[in-house]
Amino acid sequence: MSHFETEAIRLSSTKSNQREHSSPIYLTSSFTFENAEEARQMFADEIEGNIYSRYSNPNTAELIQKVCAAEGTEDGIATASGMAAMFGSIASLLQQGDHILASRSLFGSTHQLLTKVFPKWGITSTYGDIADIENWEKLVKPNTKMLFIETPSNPGLEIIDLEWVGKFAAAHKLILVVDNCFATPYLQQPAKWGAQIVTHSATKYIDGQGRVLGGLILGKKELIQEVTYFARHTGPSMSPFNAWILAKSMETLAVRMDRHCANALAVADYFQNSNDLEFVKYPFLPSHPQYHLAKKQMKYGGGIVTLTLKGGLERSQKFIDNLQMISITPNLGDSRSIATHPASTTHSKLSSDEREKVSITDGLIRISVGLEHQEDIILDIERALEKSR
Ligand SMILES: *Cc1c(COP(=O)(O)O)cnc(C)c1O
Repeated sequence: MSHFETEAIRLSSTKSNQREHSSPIYLTSSFTFENAEEARQMFADEIEGNIYSRYSNPNTAELIQKVCAAEGTEDGIATASGMAAMFGSIASLLQQGDHILASRSLFGSTHQLLTKVFPKWGITSTYGDIADIENWEKLVKPNTKMLFIETPSNPGLEIIDLEWVGKFAAAHKLILVVDNCFATPYLQQPAKWGAQIVTHSATKYIDGQGRVLGGLILGKKELIQEVTYFARHTGPSMSPFNAWILAKSMETLAVRMDRHCANALAVADYFQNSNDLEFVKYPFLPSHPQYHLAKKQMKYGGGIVTLTLKGGLERSQKFIDNLQMISITPNLGDSRSIATHPASTTHSKLSSDEREKVSITDGLIRISVGLEHQEDIILDIERALEKSR
């Protein structure tokens, strides 16, 4: 079973004695032992097995097995949300006095973690700009332990050279963490380029239908051991129900991403010369500043397109208010197309100066291109552009 699609569908670790074809849900807080000696052995890690669903559960195990096969990682844990994964990957592997080098263009809450939450415990961060990547060397301090990046970034769609960054992290002995939420393992596998930890908000494309929250921390066995210890005792565990949904969703990830990417490319291509827009950004559009890099490390360009409207905040709000089909909600990676105005919502906690540095202008609209027919998506955007003039 060497193909992505086949493994995502056929790998399954759950089995009961009911001969079910589809994996059952194991909604149980704990698991029983044959006898006192087995209980002792399991707690002593002498034998493997499920003890308690905060530690492990057949449904989370199945999800992890599928995602690890997709990412090419050895092991992982599932968490209640993407942010629990971002937090856990840092909190479990670093300690007071450590320093993180991070790419500046990050998910809004990840930015809050690095600038507000971790400094309280003496873990500090410095941002590096992608345009200035040759100078990241100068940002590495004696106590720098981790390099945390997002590519493509949310919502800037900046692309970081994974091959370069993998070598850079190895040369400086930094733990390279890649938030692979936008690309999904179907489009890009950071572990291939040297990432030791890959994190996900499974809430987005892995679920793909806007139903459940979930997160993943995946990576090398010895690091995941640390992460597992941390999670076991701090309790960010994913519910078995969510894990069951997400394991099912993995079975359709490839076909969904094929369509998300085809629709997104069609939208980007259709609007790239529009007079209503300053520019359209999409990784697989030749006008993207890092088009060749995107082509090198991604299978397709992903499902997110950004439109920069002429006319700033007022025009952006008018545009959003005139959409008829496309949803106004902050999620992404859903089968339904979604429009978000990052400057006033997901990234509103950044100062205007911080927003400027990551190109989140008042005219920027993030479109998560869904699975509706591409002509209907294009028509809805076109009408809203006209009505917002
Ligand atoms: C949504 C998102 C997160 C946070 O995930 P939640 O599941 O909402 O907690 C982290 N990183 C990126 C890139 C995201 O888009």
